[in-house]
Amino acid sequence: RVVNVDVVIVGAGAAGLFCAGVAGQLGLKVLLLDHAPKVAEKIRISGGGRCNFTNRDATPAQYLSANPHFCRSALSRYTPQDFIALVQRHGVAYHEKHKGQLFCDRSAEDIIDLLLKECAAGAAGGSVTRWQPCAVRQIRYHDGAAAPDAATPAAGRYEVDTDQGTVHCHSLVVATGGLSIPKIGATDFGYRVARQFDLRLVEQRPGLVPLTFDGAAWAPYAQLAGLALPVAMETGSKKAKGLFLEDLLFTHRGLSGPAVLQISSYWQPGTPIRINLAPEHDLPALLARAKATSRKLLGNELGQHVPSRLAEAWVQQDAAWQRPCSDVTDKALGALAERLSRWELVPTGTEGYKKAEVTLGGVDTRDLSQQTLESRQPGLFFIGEVVDVTGWLGGYNFQWAWASAHACAQGLAAR
Ligand code: FAD
Repeated sequence: RVVNVDVVIVGAGAAGLFCAGVAGQLGLKVLLLDHAPKVAEKIRISGGGRCNFTNRDATPAQYLSANPHFCRSALSRYTPQDFIALVQRHGVAYHEKHKGQLFCDRSAEDIIDLLLKECAAGAAGGSVTRWQPCAVRQIRYHDGAAAPDAATPAAGRYEVDTDQGTVHCHSLVVATGGLSIPKIGATDFGYRVARQFDLRLVEQRPGLVPLTFDGAAWAPYAQLAGLALPVAMETGSKKAKGLFLEDLLFTHRGLSGPAVLQISSYWQPGTPIRINLAPEHDLPALLARAKATSRKLLGNELGQHVPSRLAEAWVQQDAAWQRPCSDVTDKALGALAERLSRWELVPTGTEGYKKAEVTLGGVDTRDLSQQTLESRQPGLFFIGEVVDVTGWLGGYNFQWAWASAHACAQGLAAR
């Protein structure tokens, strides 16, 4: 069969569903395709099943991209407040958890229902049809040479071969996301389409992902598995520096928790990360006072201020620290304060796409319009995570999905 629509959107995830809904309501005939049997699997598992659907305080500063200014236009034209208003219109109950992060009270399904209802609300000739599961086999662009007949699309149109038939469309939107969590349907489809049309790509790597360490070097810390504590963590050079005050979690293989996930997006292989394990304390002053006033073992005294398991593991690293406070030299105390507040270590790698929440890199923003997300290839748009725009942990990635989808829908309607 051959079907004609205004727009084909590939990927019924966060960005694709939202773009389809807005475009349908702007009067466009939209066909939304996804190779997975269910829509939006990533929304379903996001935020521990409660979907951290936006961040009240999202600004371009919380996004990584080769061009950090690219996201500004879309984010300013569709803000967290716009999405919150939509959530309220649909009567979805939500709460703020931490640092502006908004979560559903009940379930991430509420956000999926909201998006499906927006798709069903197509107005004035607009409509959204969904084919699922449906794989795309080939995409062709007709730039004008062929005379149109029933089987050949008119000039400037796309012909999309799918396993449910061929579709002709004026505009094609790629919303297939990144490479994270292949188990639930992530593919490199978007990057392949970009290559087919000679668009540039920024190299991809896993982001918001636990970091791993060499087994032998990690052995002294493996005993701390399960320990969580607030830390300050940083990595990178002046040009691209990440600095976060968040919780750190020790695991058997390495480090996890929000602090590490955040820092992982800034980390470059082979470079160190630095951790202040007691960011709320003035350690040199505290240790000097202990030396002057306490006869307790240094490890016990330290355990009053940082978790005792951590204090114990730390003093075990040097015999000079395994003494009563008053017997420890000033030099040894200085070294301990330094080692706790500037613990420097070089990860061997990350847990990879199986565990990463996002994919850094993607379609190069130099080949996209920041107003509409249309690429240099006329009528071909890229939205959401497939683009080289990646947010911090905390609702920023969904906000980019909504904002880029909204900007794209406006662009589609204007074509
Ligand atoms: P996706 O939502 O990934 O959608 C892409 C769609 O394309 C999928 O439905 C997929 O099946 C389809 N697709 C892929 N390849 C093909 C193909 N070849 N043919 C057809 N269809 C295809 N972000 C937040 O802001 N808050 C959170 O709480 C949060 N929690 C997360 C938790 C986890 C465990 C993970 C993995 C991510 C989380 N994220 C969170 C990140 C967020 O889910 C993504 O950034 C967001 O879903 C990206 O939206 P998208 O529409 O671009 O891609």
